[in-house]
Amino acid sequence: MEKTYIPTKHGNLTLPAFMPDATYGSIKAVSFNDVQKAGVEAIVTTTLHIEQKIGSLYIKEFGGLHKFFGWNKPILSDSGGWQVFSLIQSKRDKGKNKISDLGCSFVDPATGNHSLLTPESSQVIQNNLSADIVTVLDNPILGNVSLAERKECIRINTLWAKRSKAKFIELNSNVKEKPLIGAVIQGGNDYELRKISADELLEIDFDIYNFGGMPLHTGVTWLTESKKGFYHEMLEYVSGLIPSNKYKYAMGVGQPDDIAFCVDVGWDLFDTVLPTRNARHGLLYVSEGQGEQTKSYKNLAYDTIHIKTERYKFDEKPLDENCNCEACTTVSRAYLRHLLRINEAAGLRLATIHNLTFYSNWMDKIRKTLQK
Ligand SMILES: [Zn+2]
Repeated sequence: MEKTYIPTKHGNLTLPAFMPDATYGSIKAVSFNDVQKAGVEAIVTTTLHIEQKIGSLYIKEFGGLHKFFGWNKPILSDSGGWQVFSLIQSKRDKGKNKISDLGCSFVDPATGNHSLLTPESSQVIQNNLSADIVTVLDNPILGNVSLAERKECIRINTLWAKRSKAKFIELNSNVKEKPLIGAVIQGGNDYELRKISADELLEIDFDIYNFGGMPLHTGVTWLTESKKGFYHEMLEYVSGLIPSNKYKYAMGVGQPDDIAFCVDVGWDLFDTVLPTRNARHGLLYVSEGQGEQTKSYKNLAYDTIHIKTERYKFDEKPLDENCNCEACTTVSRAYLRHLLRINEAAGLRLATIHNLTFYSNWMDKIRKTLQK
């Protein structure tokens, strides 16, 4: 089966797709209208942030996230687990967490409140949000733990996935247009555990299979701490474990060249904070030959620019001569540099619009060159 798009309640999502992360219900510095104009077809929203800062019952009463955001394209919600496990791993919850068959309990460092996230409560929250694609609560392997502990992580990961699916079915029993549901394959750097995790999740049957693990977006591998090599191999291996008629989501990937590699080995969906976060720090992605450093995958190449540096002080050229975004058609590199150096909102906005546009164009290039 040729996968060219994912049909959702809010239209078809063209594959492969890159989805920016809308943390706290917004993509920093830009409006959803800016995001749509940048060619973005779907966004990822962080469930726990929304629950804690806005409240999913409020969103439900309002009529769902699409109405609240004014965004009529697909929304993928994460399970909330990512934020909890980030807290646990960074020890910001001071070790006051407990992961059990029931779910994960943790202390929110902002409020000091004890919270409990279960497979079921995560599905209820995501249902309240009315997301087009929902995610099961997963249990990543944290740090260098024993084989017995890693196996226990996988057991709980599968148990939570089963209960998530049951709750998902219950919540959507009378729903005409059901959301899609994705499960997360765990196993860290252990090939055998990745296979076990994939097989167990395939038996439960989901629409989408996600590559899970942390941390991914640092680009450092778990096993050797070398740059990338290992996780590229693992991404290729895990993709091979998932039947080709299922959608495959490489969570947290990544750099444009990493995305191209992942598409080549079968992955369909990507999310990363890189284009938006880097834009705010003045790291911009441009066409090959127009920047400082070239990166490539096969015959696809791009450059990066550190716009805040001295070399752009008198640069009158547009940021990228091949780009039609608002930044590239209205301001010079020199002026954009000035705006970002003083952290001006207009500069943050223009840089973000450009990087998002670059990623949309990059996905187009991937579709044209890597896919038949
Ligand atoms: Zn541009």
